[in-house]
Amino acid sequence: MDINKLVSQMTLEEKASLCSGLDFWNTKPVDRLNIPSVMVTDGPHGLRKQDSIGDHLGINESIKAVCFPAGCAMASSFDRDLIKSVGEALGDECQAEKVSVILGPAVNIKRSPLCGRNFEYFSEDPYLASEMAVNHIKGVQSKNVGTSLKHFLANNQEHRRMTSSSEIDERTLREIYLAAFEGAVVKAKPWTVMCSYNKINGVYAAESSKYLTEVLRNEWGFDGFVVSDWGAVNNRVEGLIAGLDLEMPSSNGVNDAKIVQSVKNGELEEAILDKAVTRILNIVYQYKENENNSTVFEKDKHHELAKKSSAESMILLKNENILPLNKEDKIAFIGKFAAMPRYQGGGSSHINSFKTVGALEAVKSVTDVVYAKGYDTKEDIIDELLLKEACEAALASDVAVIFAGLPDAFESEGFDRKHMSLPNCQNKLIEAVCAVQPNTIVVLHNGSPVEMPWIDMVKGVLEVYLGGQAVGESTVDVLFGKSNPCGKLAETFPVKLEDNPSYLYYLGEKDIVEYREGIFVGYRYYDKKKSNVLFPFGFGLSYTTFDYSDLTLSADTAKDTDTITATVNITNTGSMAGKEIVQLYVSPKSSTIIRPVKELKGFEKVSLNPGETKTVSFELDKRSFSYYNTEIHDWYVETGDYEILIGKSSRDIVCISTINVESTVVIAQKYTMTSTVGDILSNPKAKALVDPITAAYSLGEDNENGEKDENILGEGTSEMMAAMFNNMPLRALLSFGAGKISEEDITDLLNKINNLN
Ligand code: BGC
Repeated sequence: MDINKLVSQMTLEEKASLCSGLDFWNTKPVDRLNIPSVMVTDGPHGLRKQDSIGDHLGINESIKAVCFPAGCAMASSFDRDLIKSVGEALGDECQAEKVSVILGPAVNIKRSPLCGRNFEYFSEDPYLASEMAVNHIKGVQSKNVGTSLKHFLANNQEHRRMTSSSEIDERTLREIYLAAFEGAVVKAKPWTVMCSYNKINGVYAAESSKYLTEVLRNEWGFDGFVVSDWGAVNNRVEGLIAGLDLEMPSSNGVNDAKIVQSVKNGELEEAILDKAVTRILNIVYQYKENENNSTVFEKDKHHELAKKSSAESMILLKNENILPLNKEDKIAFIGKFAAMPRYQGGGSSHINSFKTVGALEAVKSVTDVVYAKGYDTKEDIIDELLLKEACEAALASDVAVIFAGLPDAFESEGFDRKHMSLPNCQNKLIEAVCAVQPNTIVVLHNGSPVEMPWIDMVKGVLEVYLGGQAVGESTVDVLFGKSNPCGKLAETFPVKLEDNPSYLYYLGEKDIVEYREGIFVGYRYYDKKKSNVLFPFGFGLSYTTFDYSDLTLSADTAKDTDTITATVNITNTGSMAGKEIVQLYVSPKSSTIIRPVKELKGFEKVSLNPGETKTVSFELDKRSFSYYNTEIHDWYVETGDYEILIGKSSRDIVCISTINVESTVVIAQKYTMTSTVGDILSNPKAKALVDPITAAYSLGEDNENGEKDENILGEGTSEMMAAMFNNMPLRALLSFGAGKISEEDITDLLNKINNLN
C-alpha cells in the first residue's frame, strides 16, 4: 500500500479521526478510502479479547484463551528462547482472533515490592527486563502481529498513576528506567509503544516530546506508532505535537475536533498530523497485508507451553534435603491455593483461561495426598477449625506442603500493596503446621516478594509466582522431581519492606514522587550497603549441582570501542539433568563516580546432563562498562580496571577476572578559578604546568626531610596538609602562596591549561 498517497487523499477530518479509537479496542475505519479498522487487545501474557462490552480493568468477559505465566514468573526463567516461544504462541492466537496488536510486554522496573502491578513486570534490573521484552516482542512479531511496549515511562506505582509525577534525575532515568525500554526498542523494534499515564519531571508522558520523540524516535530509531495508555491523554494537540499518534480508547470525537480546529487556526501544522496518520496506517497495513486466514489456535498445545514455561520459571529458594518428594511418603497438601491456585493478577491483563489445573487435581496422576484448606482468601481471619484440620493432616503425614500466597485483594493493577506480608492467617497456618510437622514445604503464589517470618521453621520453599493456568501441573512436576527447578530470582527479596531503597519516598506526597534512591534500585542498593537480604537477585537452587571453571577473557586490556569475549565452563556435577543460569556482572575496581558495586551485563541458561560440561560465552561492549555521563549526555567508560564476575547469583560469585578498559572519549575540561588543585593535578598534562606554581604553597615549616614536623604540629599533619591542598580552589593560592603568587600568575596558568589539547 502506498501510505503517502493514501494520506494525501484524506480530508483533514478523516486524518484527525484516525488519531483516536473507534471504541475501546478498535481503530477507526475510513470507508470512503477502504481504510480498515483493526483491533488491539490486552496482553501481555495471554489474550484478553473482549467481544462485547469493553473495559481496561478486566471486569467484563473476554474470550476463552490461554493464560501463560505472568511477567514476574517468565523473567525468573532467564530464558530468551522460552519467552520467545510464548510470544510466538500469542502471535498465533492474535492471528486466529484477528487482533493486530497485543498490548505488552510491560517492562517497567520493580522499584518497590509494593507496586500493585509488579506481577506483570519483569525485574528490578533493566538489562534482564529488556532482554525478556526483546524476545517476547520478537516472538509475537514473527507472526506478523504487533506488540505495544508499555508503560513508557517511569510508571512504577499504581497509586495516583494518572496524575503523579515521577521525579527522576537524568542519570537514573538513563541507567535504570529508560534502559529497560531502550534495549527492547533498539533490538526488537516493537510496532507500537504505549505511553504511560504519569508525568515525568512534571510533563505528562503523553505530552513529552523529550521522551516520545527525541529519545524514542531520534535516538533509538523507533518507527512505529505511539499509543496512549487507556485514558492517558491530557491535552490532545500538545500530545500530537510531542509524538503521541493514537489516542485510546475513543474520546467520542471531542479530541478529533480539537485537532481539526488547531490545524485550521494554525496552532498545529498539518504535516505533524500527516506524520501521525502515516505511522498509524503503516501498522494497520503491515498487519492487514500479512493477516493469515487461521480462525483457531491450538489451545491444548499452548496449555502445554504454559506448563513448561511455568516449570522453567519456578525458583527453589530453600531445600534442606526435603525435595523432590518421594511419592511413597504420606503427603499432605494444605492451603486453598492447592485446589484453586492464584496464577494471574487482576486488572487489564486478566485472562479468561479456557482451563485451569490446580496442584490438587494434578497430583492425582502421581499419588494420593490428603488435603486441608487451611485458610480462606475472602478475609484475612484465622479460622481455628481450618487450622486444626490442617495440623491434623500434617501430623498424620510424613511431609506437609503448604500452598500459600497473596490473594487478589492484596495485589492488583490499580492499587499498591500496603505491606510486604502474606495474610496473617497464612503466616499463622505455616507456623502452626511447622509446630507439628518438621518436614514442611511452602509453595508461594505471589507477584512480588513477601516477608517470610517462618523461613527458619520450614525445610523447603518453592516460589512459583503467578505461573499461569497450568501452574498446578508444573508445581507437581517440580515437587516430585519430574522437572528440575531452574529459575532464579529476577528481583531481590529483602528481609523486610523497610530495607527497600525506595521505602522512605515510595508513593510520594500527593502527586510528587521523588526517586531519591537514584540508580540504587534492587541489588544495586543492597550490595552497596552490604545489607542482608532474604534471597538475593539471581538466586535459585536446583536438584543437581554445578561447578564453574576457567573464566577466560579474550584480552586483558581493551579500548572502549572493542568487543571482549568472556568464556566460562560449567559442569553438572550432580546426578540429575538440569539447567543453570550463568550470570555475568561487571564491577569497576575504582571509580571517581558513585557507581553500583556490580551490574548484570550478561546471562545464559544452559542445559546439562550429569557429568556434562559446556562452555558459555558472553560478549561485552562499551555499554557493559559505561555509566551515563551527564556532562556529555552520553554513555562513558572511565579508564581503569574492571572485574568480570561470574555468579550463580548476585551474591555467589564463583569466578573473577580483571580487564583494563581505556576510554577513547576525551571530555574537554574547562578549568576556572574555583577548580580545585587536586582536580587540575589529576590531569597529567596540566600537572607539569601547575607544579612549579604550587611549590610556593606553604603552611608551617618543613623539617630537614622536607616534611611537616609532626612533633610540633601533631600526627596526621601531612595528610591534612595534602587534603587541604588538593581540595583548595585555585584562587586560594593567592592567600596561601606566601605572597609569591600573583593573580596574573593564576590567570596565566588557567589560560595555559585550558589551551592544552
Ligand atoms: C493499562 C494498560 C492496558 C490498558 C487497556 C490500562 O489501564 O494500564 O496496561 O493495556 O488499560 O486495557
